[in-house]
Amino acid sequence: MIYVIALGSNRRHVRHGNPRALIEEALRRLPGTLLLRSDTICTRPLGPSNRTYANAAAVIKSSLMPPALLAGLQGIERDLGRVRSGQAWRARTMDLDIIFWSEGVWATPPLTIPHKEFRARAFVLTPLSTIVPEWRDPGCGRSVKQLHARLLKPKHKSCP
Ligand code: AMP
Repeated sequence: MIYVIALGSNRRHVRHGNPRALIEEALRRLPGTLLLRSDTICTRPLGPSNRTYANAAAVIKSSLMPPALLAGLQGIERDLGRVRSGQAWRARTMDLDIIFWSEGVWATPPLTIPHKEFRARAFVLTPLSTIVPEWRDPGCGRSVKQLHARLLKPKHKSCP
């Protein structure tokens, strides 16, 4: 299977360093063969945190099914020091999301693929559009390039 993963970090890690270095470490640890990766971009955060986010996207090949891949990603988040808490916007050492997989839609709670919020997140769509511009969202049929362009034009309605 092929998976598209979004990576984000906005906190230093005592051993691995700044968010940009943490992204590199997470990329090395992704459970599968790394086929493509974007550059790491720095973006202003959403929500009350005032730290800058480092974001990137990657395409991997993996034999894992989505729940097993998610468990693997959560293991990396844990190893890289993310502390889970009720506050959605607290600073994060590492956030790893499954955006797409080659088999289309996965909708068995708690996991949803395509990721529910990616269409509204420039920090996901911008790196994504540099590595998989023609990948089609199985929900609405639009390509990543089209979704990115729509997001940058706020007058258009976003994809359901
Ligand atoms: P967050 O770390 O805030 O992005 O949320 C993590 C939770 O979202 C996990 O417990 C997952 O079960 C759930 N989740 C649902 N869909 C996805 C997805 N496509 N990728 C990663 N986590 C997901």
